[in-house]
Amino acid sequence: MGFEDKRIAIIGGGLGGMAFLNAASYAGLKNVQLYEQAHQFGEVGAGVSITSNANRVLDAFGLKESLLRKSSPQLECYMEYRNYKTGDYLGHINEFSSPHNRLLHRAHLLDALKERVPKDRLHLNKRLLSIDRNGSSEVEKAGAPPYTIHFEDGTTAEADIIIGCDGIKSKVRQEMGLVDKPIYSGQVVYRGFVDYKDLKEETAQLLRPKLVNFRGPKRHVLILPIGNQSTGTDRAGIIGFMSEPLESWKSESWMSRSDIESLQEHVRDWCPQVQDIISGLRKGSPDGRMLKQALYVRDPLNKWFEMSPIKDAGIVLLGDSVHSTLPHQGQGTCMAIESGIALATILRHWKTDNLKDALQFYQDVRKPRTDRVTKTSYEAGKLASSDNPSEMSANFNPEALSERMKWIMEYSILDDLKIQGADYMNFQDSRI
Ligand SMILES: Cc1cc2nc3c(=O)[nH]c(=O)nc-3n(C[C@H](O)[C@H](O)[C@H](O)COP(=O)(O)OP(=O)(O)OC[C@H]3O[C@@H](n4cnc5c(N)ncnc54)[C@H](O)[C@@H]3O)c2cc1C
Repeated sequence: MGFEDKRIAIIGGGLGGMAFLNAASYAGLKNVQLYEQAHQFGEVGAGVSITSNANRVLDAFGLKESLLRKSSPQLECYMEYRNYKTGDYLGHINEFSSPHNRLLHRAHLLDALKERVPKDRLHLNKRLLSIDRNGSSEVEKAGAPPYTIHFEDGTTAEADIIIGCDGIKSKVRQEMGLVDKPIYSGQVVYRGFVDYKDLKEETAQLLRPKLVNFRGPKRHVLILPIGNQSTGTDRAGIIGFMSEPLESWKSESWMSRSDIESLQEHVRDWCPQVQDIISGLRKGSPDGRMLKQALYVRDPLNKWFEMSPIKDAGIVLLGDSVHSTLPHQGQGTCMAIESGIALATILRHWKTDNLKDALQFYQDVRKPRTDRVTKTSYEAGKLASSDNPSEMSANFNPEALSERMKWIMEYSILDDLKIQGADYMNFQDSRI
């Protein structure tokens, strides 16, 4: 049984959509097409951290070598904390279970995910405008597809199953009648890169071997040692989390560019290492600007899919369109990778021809975990900085932070599917 021959349309070719496409090939779904609105595949210029729980899945796809070439080698620890004002060491969290955390440029992760995908499955310039539901019995008798997808360029596509991987502002989600608005979290992030040669030697030495977090009042600056020296992809990825009222947001979009000066304003009295990082950002940015993004959240969602009246057809969400989370535990992409293998495995190996049961099982397996990640990521954001400068060092307990995150990192979605899916899926020819 299963739904291996169904026409599956993925809307959105970001890290979530591309992770699902890899999972679909791995699981053996035969007829999957991806539609992306942009005229080329690309990611924002920023680093990303892919933790062990997601690396287990990427390694199963056969992407390990490719990813390691452009990712950080095993680091000294998972994260080191420093006081914003003095730069003094506050504590650290050890690495979690193997495979170790990989820090890399988002574009390099997207390239690796694209590597094994047949080019004829990828369609660019396809901005979803609307979905026709061809749901009546007459239409069904006439052999019409369950869904006709309309794109901005005037073309259409047919599908039995639509997977909405189109991000936090998802159009597919809206098409499902979910019109709630994302909520501003109170923080913006400034993102950029620094070449180690643009830093003082002692700052470079501090930042190269580990992820460092300078904790400040209602603000923190994370420095990710992304990439790999052997392939010349190594750089320091900077993410400055700063509290700002939404009124100060000038751009129409959530993503814009800002003067480095604005970040500098926030950290003017911070330690010399942070000043050195700001100066490194300036050296690497000819126009003196960097990426700035407002951080939005959504409450967890109860409706992850809808069914068509036509048998074995439905629309389902994956990635930020359904389980977006604040980035304070580095899990948004990791959750999309886990959800991708879960949905693909369920669609391929489901024992019956009841799609509704299969999609309900997908939601039941994934929702408790993604809801918990969303909730604990919000809390982690509070712990990452502090409202009170005098508490910056006192009462700070990295071991407790580590304990809080173990359940995320040590989980294997592959094992969980085998356990929870034993009664519902046929794993005889499965690769999980
Ligand atoms: C500051 C910051 C740091 C982060 N760090 C990490 C981290 O270290 N680790 C981690 O795991 N996660 C991290 N995340 C989260 C991560 O970025 C997201 O969870 C992830 O990118 C979601 O992927 P997605 O494919 O679901 O959505 P998106 O990346 O938003 O991709 C959506 C895609 O859909 C396309 N699209 C949109 N609308 C349409 C349409 N109408 N028609 C066709 N295509 C459309 C878009 O062009 C885009 O390509 C971070 C997030 C932020 C903001």
